Amino acid sequence: MPAKTVNDIVALCKRRGFIFTGSEIYGGLGGAYDYGPYGVELMKNIRNAWWNAMIYSRNDVEGLDAALISNRLLWKYSGHEAGFSDPLVECKKCGTRMRQDKMKDQTKCDNCGSTEITEPRAYQLMMGLSIGATADGAINAYLRPETATTTYTNFKNVLDAKPHKLPFGIAQIGKAFRNEISPRGFVFRMREFEQAELQYFVHPTQDEQYHKMWMETRLAWWVNELGIPAEKLRFMPHEKLAHYAKAAVDIEYEFPDGFDEVEGIHNRQDFDLGSHTKGQKEFEIHANVLENKDSTTKLSYSDPQTGENFIPYVIETAMGVNRAMLAVMLEAYTEEDLGDGKSRVVLKLKPKLAPVKAAVIPLARNVPELLEIATNIENDLRKLAIGRIELENSGNIGKNYRRHDEIGTPVCITVDHQTMEDKTVTLRHRDSMAQERIAIQDVPKRILEIVNG
Ligand code: ATP
Repeated sequence: MPAKTVNDIVALCKRRGFIFTGSEIYGGLGGAYDYGPYGVELMKNIRNAWWNAMIYSRNDVEGLDAALISNRLLWKYSGHEAGFSDPLVECKKCGTRMRQDKMKDQTKCDNCGSTEITEPRAYQLMMGLSIGATADGAINAYLRPETATTTYTNFKNVLDAKPHKLPFGIAQIGKAFRNEISPRGFVFRMREFEQAELQYFVHPTQDEQYHKMWMETRLAWWVNELGIPAEKLRFMPHEKLAHYAKAAVDIEYEFPDGFDEVEGIHNRQDFDLGSHTKGQKEFEIHANVLENKDSTTKLSYSDPQTGENFIPYVIETAMGVNRAMLAVMLEAYTEEDLGDGKSRVVLKLKPKLAPVKAAVIPLARNVPELLEIATNIENDLRKLAIGRIELENSGNIGKNYRRHDEIGTPVCITVDHQTMEDKTVTLRHRDSMAQERIAIQDVPKRILEIVNG
């Protein structure tokens, strides 16, 4: 079988309803995708795996869901308004615009090969908004380009609502928007995407220890929860550090055309809480609400035991959920030769991530008795609340198996004529295609075993 490519995933996503081109019927919009019935399930399951690991299985992390649109000042004081840009160059011959640091060869146009390239200029990545009935349409708000900043500005709110000793964290999953110069690689680089980010607040003397801890924890999550083999993942330290970072390491996954970033783990020191503390003070002086201009910092932490007051350091883990889904699909996608000129595509997902948990299939169509038994099994499985259950009533078992192999459904339950006699059904396993015959009454227990397996 030929090596799999991102195009195999693009085709499967469209064919089976995982991902569609955004605004498709009007010609699309670069860097925007719509998630279909199975895509939303897979995304949700990846999010849940992250939330379970980062929040429910720990006692030191709180959840947050901040607004996607925010006051301009947030992004002024975070440093994004002045500095969140990519170097844009243009080919003087064909007009192609490129992100200089991602070009194959910075002296030649990626499109036509011309060496006549403009000097780079800083291209602002944030999407500005003009909110409310402004007179001049000036930008007074931004769509957030990351979740992190909206976590920092809520640091005090969360800590006041749920006191914690350091270290503790705040986690968010949500949309982010960047006006990328050249969206590419399907959902790898989009203009609207989703992030799952943790900001972990630590004492400044413990930053290195927790940076290391989170690198190890996150890598293990990719292997154990998403099922990505360890040899397809690696750490890549940043060559050039951002001005706020003391250390930055990416987790990279080996995509078909090479290793690329899927998550960043950064030691951001006290940069963010520090600059918003400063920003807030400036804002209050400006707005004349601050009487004492020497008031103490707002986004700081007071140690209840020692009384020490300081701005914590931040260790950030920043994952792209869409990139995680792409990696998961690439890893799971398998083309199998079944002999006799037959082959199948199967998505060997971990059952916990599978969009459909089980499909119930009456062997023949238009046989009311078979359909009734199948519907009862379907209803019993729905009561387990383990996710999506489907009933197939087309009567074409081969087609049904093929469809569920491609969607990644771990198991199909077939109801046939023997079922009416002895109340047993066939379970057909996705990966091995092995079949087992079990009593109807044992189906829910067995499905639970498989899905939690
Ligand atoms: P890149 O260098 O690829 O532009 P970045 O280093 O700016 O990414 P971060 O700001 O650290 O990325 O964002 C954290 C994560 O969010 C990335 O590891 C990636 O998985 C995801 N991400 C960032 N930009 C995009 C995008 N345009 N489309 C999809 N996912 C993205």
